[in-house]
Amino acid sequence: MNNGDQPVESLDMEETTQDEYLSAIRSQNVALGGATFQCPICGTLQSANDLIEAGAGKDLDEVEGYVGFSCIGRFDKTRGCDWTLGGLFGLHNLEVITPDGKHHPRFRPVPREAPHD
Ligand SMILES: [Zn+2]
Repeated sequence: MNNGDQPVESLDMEETTQDEYLSAIRSQNVALGGATFQCPICGTLQSANDLIEAGAGKDLDEVEGYVGFSCIGRFDKTRGCDWTLGGLFGLHNLEVITPDGKHHPRFRPVPREAPHD
């Protein structure tokens, strides 16, 4: 199963199914808008609510396309970075594989109180 992409040496690529991805989000035990994702570039944790606060959109529907995909720094210059997985470079550490076999790069769901041990 090699699609010819160059592996990114500095990031551990992880593949997950849509179900596993959603259950990782649910396991954070917070309302959907509060689930946090980590930007692979700057490490900033960010939720849909954070993106709404930063002005990316006015509700969950409007920010849905940015959550786990575009860093909050694109909307709030005071934090994060301006990374988006929609760019030219496939620099990401997680791909979600949907039932149709497509690979979708996403930020990793990481709870806000991530264990540091
Ligand atoms: Zn970032």
